[in-house]
Amino acid sequence: MPIRQRYEFASDNTAAICPEAWAALEQANREADISYGADDWTRRLSQQVSEIFETDCATFIVFNGTAANSLALAQLCRSFESVVSHERAHIETDECGAPEFFSGGAKLLRVGGANGKIDLQAVELVLRQHLDVHSTKVRALSVTQVSEAGTIYSPEELEAIAALARKHHLLLHMDGARFANAVASLGCAPREITWDRGVDVLSFGGTKNGLAAGDLVIFFKRELTCDFDFRVKQGAQLASKMRFLAAPWTALLAEDTWLKNARHANAMAALLEEKLRALGLADLAFPRQASALFLRLPNEIVERMHAAGWHFQNFFEPGVYRLMCSWATTEEQITEFAAALAE
Ligand SMILES: *Cc1c(COP(=O)(O)O)cnc(C)c1O
Repeated sequence: MPIRQRYEFASDNTAAICPEAWAALEQANREADISYGADDWTRRLSQQVSEIFETDCATFIVFNGTAANSLALAQLCRSFESVVSHERAHIETDECGAPEFFSGGAKLLRVGGANGKIDLQAVELVLRQHLDVHSTKVRALSVTQVSEAGTIYSPEELEAIAALARKHHLLLHMDGARFANAVASLGCAPREITWDRGVDVLSFGGTKNGLAAGDLVIFFKRELTCDFDFRVKQGAQLASKMRFLAAPWTALLAEDTWLKNARHANAMAALLEEKLRALGLADLAFPRQASALFLRLPNEIVERMHAAGWHFQNFFEPGVYRLMCSWATTEEQITEFAAALAE
């Protein structure tokens, strides 16, 4: 009998589309509608985003997170400028140079920092090394919330980052592929970790929160959006049937479904940690603050789990593995995973 392949903890993009999003897609599919985002679903989505962030935002839908990040950064930077980010940032390690490509050459400058979060002294040092025409001109800072290490920047940490950005006239971008999980974990208002803390543009991910596709680029300053619609189109990111991306998003943002999904994923990660602790296997590389666990596991256990069909990946250092929960993770799956580990 073939071994059952288990993808539940491999990533949050292995999860299905959540029922609310699926129902909205079905509803949008009932009749013909106007194309290229002039439809009511897309209009409604823009309103919802402004309501949730309690400010007048400019919202754009693109197909995925790489497009959201790279087009946002391209909008902030000219070709001779640069962006400071953590060395493990998705824009640096997982986007195939798309930010550099779409900006026509803007450079990413990497800094270190514990627990996947940028170290501000390291940022200051980089800034001191970029003062004349021989280097690039630093134009923006990019932070990831939830970070690639599954950790969260507190409002106070973001305040310090924003102060540094202000001092050096830098724009602030946030990669929010898992922004919902951060809001759910902090229990704060979305504004408290975005524009109230100086964030100028947010890549707001919906895919890992329960959609099939379609992430948002949200500008908190209208003056930064000049001709962004052209950039989106040239970047092959303008969906002609935009309503089918927008409708599931409206369902996610209605009645706090996005937060319900994120709270569930976070709670499942907490439960998974508890089960691992009971087995004496909760050797975490980073503190668990949202929906992911980064676990040090002995080789023989990993090989046995992989052979048993459980997929999960090595991240950061050798011997560290990421277990990711999602809106769809069940207690039963966690029990099965823990039982397989305990064998
Ligand atoms: C998943 C993810 C993205 C987006 O990835 P796509 O595959 O392009 O949708 C961006 N940033 C982070 C931190 C992510 O985890």
